[in-house]
Amino acid sequence: MLKILFVSSEIHPFAKTGGLADVGCALPKALQSLGHQPIVFMPAYRSVMEGDHPIESTDIQIQIPVGNRLMNGSILQGTLPHSNVPIYFIEQHEYFDREGIYGGQSDYEDNCARFSFFSRAVLEAINVLHLDVDVIHCNDWQTGLIPALVRLQNRPLGVDTQTALIMTIHNLAYQGVFGRAEMRSTGLDWKHFNWQEMEFYGKLNLLKTGLVFADGLSTVSPTYANEIQTTEHGCGLESLLRDRKNDLAGIINGVDYNDWNPETDALLASKFSSSNWRIGKPQCKEDLQHIMGLPVKSDAPLIGIIGRLAEQKGWDLIIELMRCWLPDSEVQWAILGTGEARFEKEISELVQRFPERISAQLTFSNELAHKIEAGADMFLMPSRYEPCGLNQLYSLKYGTVPIVRATGGLKDSVTNADQEAVTAGEANGFSFSEYSAAGIQDAVHRAVLTYSEHQEIWGRIVETGMKQDWSWTNSARHYVDLYQSTLSQLSPKSVDCPIP
Ligand code: ADP
Repeated sequence: MLKILFVSSEIHPFAKTGGLADVGCALPKALQSLGHQPIVFMPAYRSVMEGDHPIESTDIQIQIPVGNRLMNGSILQGTLPHSNVPIYFIEQHEYFDREGIYGGQSDYEDNCARFSFFSRAVLEAINVLHLDVDVIHCNDWQTGLIPALVRLQNRPLGVDTQTALIMTIHNLAYQGVFGRAEMRSTGLDWKHFNWQEMEFYGKLNLLKTGLVFADGLSTVSPTYANEIQTTEHGCGLESLLRDRKNDLAGIINGVDYNDWNPETDALLASKFSSSNWRIGKPQCKEDLQHIMGLPVKSDAPLIGIIGRLAEQKGWDLIIELMRCWLPDSEVQWAILGTGEARFEKEISELVQRFPERISAQLTFSNELAHKIEAGADMFLMPSRYEPCGLNQLYSLKYGTVPIVRATGGLKDSVTNADQEAVTAGEANGFSFSEYSAAGIQDAVHRAVLTYSEHQEIWGRIVETGMKQDWSWTNSARHYVDLYQSTLSQLSPKSVDCPIP
C-alpha cells in the first residue's frame, strides 16, 4: 500500500479549465480502489469556497515568505465527492480569492508567486499535518517547483530520499515561463538559475524545473510520450526529455464512468447502453436539437464539438470545413467552447448566417457537454496535437463516433474505420493524419457517408466503441507501476550498522 500525495492546480468538481481537473478527481479515487492511500492538494480558489461541496477548516495557519513578503495562509479540508479520499485546500485570499483560476482575458501577472506559494505551502502542510508519504505526484508547471524544493532545500518531515517525486506533463505547451526576477518567489538560491536546472533561455521555467528534479516522469499517452521527444512537439524541452526517456512513461488517461456513462447519466433525456442505443440515442439527439435551436431532424448527421477555443484544438480547420459545407450540406453542428476571441467571432458569424445548421454555446457548461456527447452522431476533434484528449473517450462510451486527427492520445484511442479494421471489428471511429483541409474533409466525408448509407457498418463502429473499457482501473495500475519502479531506483535507506 502506497501513500501518495497528489498535487494539482485543478480538481473536478472544485475547479476546472480542462482535462487536468478530470484526471485529478478520477485518478486518486482509482488509486484508492486499488488499495493505496491518496491524499489530494489544490488551492482554495473562489470557486472552491463558493461551490456546493462541504469544506472545513483545520485551524492550521501557515506562513510562507514569497519574495520580500511574508504570506499568511491556512489549510482547509474535505473529501473528493462520492469517495472518502481526503483533499486539502491551501487558502490564501490575496492569491486565490479571484474570479479566475489562472487569469481572465490574460494570465494573472503574479502567477509565479501564486503557484510558488502553493507549492511551498503543500510541503509545509506535510510537516504540520504529519503526513508520511511514499510518493509526491506533481502535475503540470503549477507544481513543478515541488521536486526542486524537496531535493534542494526544504525537506519536510515524512519526506526523505526514499520518497519518489513524480512529475506528469498534461500539456507540454504550458510550461510556466516567467521573467528571471521571479526566481525570488521560489525561495531557491540563484545558483540554481542555470540552463541545467531552472533556466530556459534567460527565463525561469517551472515545468522544466519539475522535469529536471523529479525522479520519475510521465505524460498522458504513449504516443505523446514519443512525440514530445521530437523538435516538432518538444516545445524546446525535447533534448531534456530525450535524455530522460528511460524515466518517462506514457500512460493514457481513463474515464470516470461514474460521471460519464450513458446508462446512468441523469443529465440525459434518455439513458441508453450498447444494446439499446438505437432507442435512447435518438431521444437524446432530439433533445439536443431542441435545446440548441436546431431543426429536429432524426436523419440529419449531427456533429458535436466541445473544447477550448485554442489553436491546439484545430479550430482553423473546423471553421474552414464548416465554411465550405454549411451552404449545401444537411450536416448539423452543435458547438460548445470558450477561449480565443478570434474563434468566437468566426463561429458567431457562421451561426448568424446558417442558424438552421449550426448552433454554438460559447460558455462552459458541464450539463450541455453531457447532452452533446449523448445527442450527437459524431464528435469532431482535429487537434494539431493532443496529449491525451478526454472527449473522444467520452464519445466512444456514448456511441458518438469520434472523427480525430491521429496524434497523441487520439491516435492511441481511435482506430480508423478502414476496410481492414471494420472487417476485424476493431474500428471505433475515423481518423486522418495530415493536418490539412483535405485531411479533415476526407475523414468527415467518410464518416457522414457511412452514417447515411452504410447503417449496418455504422452500428458496428458505434457498438465497438461503446463496449470498450477506458476506465481508470487500467491506467491507475500503470501509475502504480511507475511509482513502484521509481521507488525501487531510489537510494536505499541508510541503515545504522552496529560496529563489531
Ligand atoms: P484539454 O485538457 O486540452 O482542454 P481534454 O479533452 O483533455 O482537453 O479535456 C477537456 C475537458 O474539459 C473535458 O472534460 C471537456 O468536456 C471539458 N470542456 C472543455 N470545454 C468545455 C466547455 N466549454 N464546457 C464544458 N466542458 C468543457
